[in-house]
Amino acid sequence: WSSETIVVVTGGNRGIGFEISRQLAVNGLIVILTARDNNVGLEATRVLQEGGLNVLFHQLDVLDPLSVKELSEWLQQNYGGLDILVNNAGVNFNLGCDNSVEYAEKVVETNYFGTKNMIQAMIPLMKPSTSGARIINVSSRLGRLNGRRNRLEDVNLRQQLGDLDSLSIDLIDKTVSTFLQQVEDGTWTSAGWPQTFTDYSVSKLAVNAYTRLMAKLLSDQGHRIYINCYCPGWVKTAMTGYAGNISAEEGADTGVWLALLPDQAITGKFFAERREINF
Ligand code: NDP
Repeated sequence: WSSETIVVVTGGNRGIGFEISRQLAVNGLIVILTARDNNVGLEATRVLQEGGLNVLFHQLDVLDPLSVKELSEWLQQNYGGLDILVNNAGVNFNLGCDNSVEYAEKVVETNYFGTKNMIQAMIPLMKPSTSGARIINVSSRLGRLNGRRNRLEDVNLRQQLGDLDSLSIDLIDKTVSTFLQQVEDGTWTSAGWPQTFTDYSVSKLAVNAYTRLMAKLLSDQGHRIYINCYCPGWVKTAMTGYAGNISAEEGADTGVWLALLPDQAITGKFFAERREINF
């Protein structure tokens, strides 16, 4: 990477996204810090600029197609595209042991469809640099397919989502829409979804499956765009009510490492603490 490398970070105004922005800028990259709110985004950018970092602000709500389009056009006009996309924006309304699905639609929309929208919009703008363009999705171990705890009980669905031959965008979309339908019907409790932070876990399970699938599709189509996801750990941010056992700075670490990794062609993998983990 060089001082010309353009990174876009979603949800960069606070928490892990702010730290990823800061650390990548410290490493000499040009960071486009995005946020859905202009004022908080500009303020976060100002803080980093005052520290002498090359950070610029652009508004972005990952759920607003017009906002995504405006960012795309701005990137194209000003930089001819981007090199690295960090999909960090996310929401969670479960706290402690609570397992609320009251906001399930918002959670799945933001975490899964927001990430998907951004990837689809940015792919045509990604520059095939020598290190290959990169996409990093901030996900969670709660969305693991084959974890010992908190996994899908439906063995068949687990198998289909876990096998690249049967995995498809349709299958991922159908999985999340079945879940949301069951939330609406009130039948989700007995349907074998992950038991902790259910809506959030389903959203991240979808992000993980989408990451694996896109890695394959991009490579099949001959793109030099490498896409991976990672779990930041349990991080002291607004999302956890500042509970957690690590700082946002530590939570950003594996994402920054993935962005800067000299090894070129790693794709379709899941990481935590700078190591590959199982989906
Ligand atoms: P925060 O709540 O501090 O930050 C979330 C960020 O996402 C905020 O900047 C928020 O903006 C932004 N955001 C939410 N919705 C949208 C939207 N529609 N468009 C654009 N931006 C949006 O949480 P964290 O920093 O902890 O979370 C960052 C990522 O890390 C998330 O994807 C989360 O799921 C993941 N993660 C976090 C863990 C943790 O322990 N904290 C553990 C595992 C994963 P605004 O300020 O406007 O609300």
